Amino acid sequence: MNKLTPQEIKARIHLEQVIKQDWQPPVKRYADWWMFFCPFHPNTRTPALGVNLKTGTFKCFSGECGVQGDLFTWHMLRHNTDFKTAQAYYREQLPNVASHPMNARSELKQRRPAEPPGALWQLQALAFLQLCQTTLWEAGGEPGRKELARRGVQEYTARRWSLGYNPRWRKEPGSAWGLPHAQTVWLPRGLTIPAFVGMDLWYLKIRIFGHNGKPVEKHAGKSKYLQIQGSRPALFGMDHFAGRANLLLAESELDAILVWQESGDLLDIASLGGAGKQLDSHWIPYLLPYRRIFLAYDQDKAGLHGARKLAALSQRLVVSPPPEGDLTDFHQTGGDVRDFIAQFMST
Ligand SMILES: [Zn+2]
Repeated sequence: MNKLTPQEIKARIHLEQVIKQDWQPPVKRYADWWMFFCPFHPNTRTPALGVNLKTGTFKCFSGECGVQGDLFTWHMLRHNTDFKTAQAYYREQLPNVASHPMNARSELKQRRPAEPPGALWQLQALAFLQLCQTTLWEAGGEPGRKELARRGVQEYTARRWSLGYNPRWRKEPGSAWGLPHAQTVWLPRGLTIPAFVGMDLWYLKIRIFGHNGKPVEKHAGKSKYLQIQGSRPALFGMDHFAGRANLLLAESELDAILVWQESGDLLDIASLGGAGKQLDSHWIPYLLPYRRIFLAYDQDKAGLHGARKLAALSQRLVVSPPPEGDLTDFHQTGGDVRDFIAQFMST
């Protein structure tokens, strides 16, 4: 018998193929995910069991079940056995599967799974964020509070979404954040907007403010936002999902926060952090439970340009651009965001 380690076994056997043979074929296939009916809870309506082809792991996305694991966990759960037996089982299988060219998973190492920034980055970012959160509600945070008030974002909302204000530009060496030494972590003055998923901070974005204490406008190709070095793309808002039937994808984080404040009881809210941002397939299964997904992007960008990966969800996607400008503009000019949302939900 071969002496392969569990890691080597996992690199050679495709979990999705095992499930296909051991259980039944997948119901849907997205870029990096195959969705199966879950054998671990009674359900024949939603294919809730997702297998990530990049990581070789599975997870049931239904709230009441939630099983997850890898190749070995699958065998242990399905056949009510232990890790040793599961290992022995796959070792025996290997001579057959290894010869199959489809199973040469040599690219596994290069295809890194989506994961949050490292531990040192988390520590630094959280410390910075805490400082900014405190500052926002002190004298030095006045510019930030003014901007939030202008946008109609209330204090309660700002606190719930852990918004903060950084009063002065700073830069730090990448090495202090666990990044390559040559990189610099710029921390511009402005509103800090964190994207948490559970305990992990995935990215930290800053709405940049100028010396005059006002948000800068877009000019000379320079963005109004800076996503700080080392951030990783994530689905903004996931931490506030409340299991509603429908989801609204707002164009920006601040739009999402405003909609949550105004209509969080009607639907769940998320943002990809910009109309041009694509959704990493890692997050797609989290969107599958939604009956409909409303894309409330600016009128001009509503063509789903740049959000092509969302095509995987096309049947439930509904494009619902706000009547004018973005949702914040609409709110500022006296538009009733809640009414707007209730209206398109009823169509
Ligand atoms: Zn399940």
